Amino acid sequence: MYSVEHMDYYEILGVSKGASEGEIKKAYRNLSKEWHPDKHKGEKAAEEKYKQINRAYEALSDPKKRKMYDQFGSEDGPQFGGGGNPFGGGFNASGFEGFGDMFETFFGGARGRTQARETGGRDMEVEVSIPLEDAFRGTSKVIRLRTLVECSTCKGTGDAPGSKKINCSMCGGTGQVVRRVQSIFGALEQSTICDRCHGSGKVPETPCKECKGEGRIQGSEEITVEVPAGIQTGQTLRVRGRGEAGRQGKNAGDLFVHIHVQADPRFERSGDDLKKEVTIPVTDAVLGSEVSIDTFEGSLTVKIPAGTQPEQILRIKGKGMPVLNSSKKGDLYVTVKVAIPQKVDREERKLWDALRKS
Ligand code: ZN
Repeated sequence: MYSVEHMDYYEILGVSKGASEGEIKKAYRNLSKEWHPDKHKGEKAAEEKYKQINRAYEALSDPKKRKMYDQFGSEDGPQFGGGGNPFGGGFNASGFEGFGDMFETFFGGARGRTQARETGGRDMEVEVSIPLEDAFRGTSKVIRLRTLVECSTCKGTGDAPGSKKINCSMCGGTGQVVRRVQSIFGALEQSTICDRCHGSGKVPETPCKECKGEGRIQGSEEITVEVPAGIQTGQTLRVRGRGEAGRQGKNAGDLFVHIHVQADPRFERSGDDLKKEVTIPVTDAVLGSEVSIDTFEGSLTVKIPAGTQPEQILRIKGKGMPVLNSSKKGDLYVTVKVAIPQKVDREERKLWDALRKS
């Protein structure tokens, strides 16, 4: 699941991550001319490429979609399963099962790690707790992370100013070291990744003094994470490339933000629905009435029909929590409690008595 190739829109358009709107537009114009189906009649690969270019431009030319894409790797925002994400970015289509694979990568360690990931940065994880009201509206959270960050002196290359990369003398530039190992089966030749160049075959001629040639140093980072409305406890946002910096400019790890939504004294949350109790006098239950409920969107008047029974549940459609990645909302369920007077004065006793006789 981890190995699913992520479609990089910036790469498709051949622009940098920080490209301006103008640069993106220009790149798109040139590429769409170059790959236009009229020029490549009947070529399946070209047709696919043309589609990718258009898809990339559609996402990156819209500031809102671009922001989503930058954070989640998908212009549709975070993918929590069920939805299916054609790009394999964010969360995988098979849903929560997907967490298992992903999480093993940083809980369990080395399973299935490729050589490229050895020198890339590790994934990081943090837990963020937000009030229910923030989960209702969506919020942005600034996360401070102590981790390995790109060395600013060498811009992550690991080279001293003016220096360049040379072949690693330990492995002769192959990145692999062959060792002879004695085992019960006799002498074996074992090929391992070179300790000195970590498999790249290249080392800085003169290493950067600041980071000793690593291209990364211990530091702290501030990352603003957009938390979408409708998020629930236990869900995790994945922020691409904001984990540990890679060695000598290699791929950074991802940051996984585990969300905890705090309980709210006003509402109980049940998935996308909200629940609440209101207490009304017995007379209101008999004759009908209105109650005012304080919601995240201001006060809401709820009609109590005549003849409402104790513990009766009123469903108010569309007044629950927002549904993640959708414009829909859940419902608000109001449980009606009926207050029966524990004491009545003489006047009231007469009225109740008259009622009894009627
Ligand atoms: Zn450096």
